[in-house]
Amino acid sequence: METKLVVIDEKNIDEEAAAALKEAGSIIRDGGLVAFPTETVYGLGGDALNPSSSKKIYAAKGRPSDNPLIVHISKFEDLEKIVKEVPEAARKLSEAFWPGPLTMIMEKNDRVPYETTGGLDTVAIRMPNNKIALGLIEESGGYIAAPSANTSGRPSPTVARYCVEDLSGKIEMIIDGGQVGIGLESTIVDLTAEVPMILRPGYITAEMLKEVLGDISIDRTIIDSSSTEKPKAPGMKYRHYAPKGDLMIVEGVQDEVVAFINEKSREAAAAGKRVGVICTDETMPMYNADVVKSVGNREDESTVAHELFKVLREFDDENIDVMYSESFDDSGIGQAIMNRLLKAAGHQLTIL
Ligand code: AMP
Ligand code: MG
Repeated sequence: METKLVVIDEKNIDEEAAAALKEAGSIIRDGGLVAFPTETVYGLGGDALNPSSSKKIYAAKGRPSDNPLIVHISKFEDLEKIVKEVPEAARKLSEAFWPGPLTMIMEKNDRVPYETTGGLDTVAIRMPNNKIALGLIEESGGYIAAPSANTSGRPSPTVARYCVEDLSGKIEMIIDGGQVGIGLESTIVDLTAEVPMILRPGYITAEMLKEVLGDISIDRTIIDSSSTEKPKAPGMKYRHYAPKGDLMIVEGVQDEVVAFINEKSREAAAAGKRVGVICTDETMPMYNADVVKSVGNREDESTVAHELFKVLREFDDENIDVMYSESFDDSGIGQAIMNRLLKAAGHQLTIL
């Protein structure tokens, strides 16, 4: 299959862009797949109410079929058409955070096929905050199932070229809307739990949810790397975001971390390996390795979220064998950053 690539500037949806969105929408209505930008990461979209589209999404990604898809909508009114009932918490949270990087889990109704929910009676729903995504959802009939637009197990794409790398030839269209804003997948909150529960940390933090709901719980398995329990979001049990090289995270006070990583890098280089270091603007000049990349600034950790997946992919492009990364505080957006980094590292963490 030939994959059509179109470029759209989110800030200038002119006639040409509108026509491209219409074409992309008709691809999805006809059961085809389109990769598109959202504010979190690029999504691989198909008609969420068409079982054959969801099957195609799993096939194109090589994703295990028990890992449910998130349904993307563009208007709050469309929510009640696919769930048993809209919980009060969903109204409050959507008012506070939609459109935005928050996914809510509710009881599904019969319109949502089990192929989309991985066999579950619940469905995950989100309204993305990106004009290209919202326009595409409208043109597609209102409901787009979209996981991240990467081959299963690779870091999620935050720029279109990595969608091209993973999905070219497998889907009908890729919309290039530039680098995404946030860079980490949405926060997932389960509203079917007695107390709403965070199943995946993201840009919307526990503190922000607490302010709206009062009470909130968190699936401990996603933050405790020693936990042997199964995470409640089926997808969280898979090794995600994995770069090709071996990644180790190092935690401790700054000077010791730098010294330790430099020592390990020397050893690896002496053993003939290509070594990469993932650091921050503050420490970048202190490292010696084949490739040293800053993921952002510690003063503003949203810069780290923005760059993390791109940097992991860039290390793959550089054929790096071994990587060492600094760690991040497990609070605010740092919790989501550490959750993704630990997964990328297969939970290899050295605490000094
Ligand atoms: P991705 O589409 O790659 O961002 O992954 C979607 C995530 O949402 C996976 O971790 C899924 O397991 C999770 N998810 C989707 N639907 C549900 C659901 N109904 N219940 C629990 N987790 C879900
Ligand atoms: Mg994903």
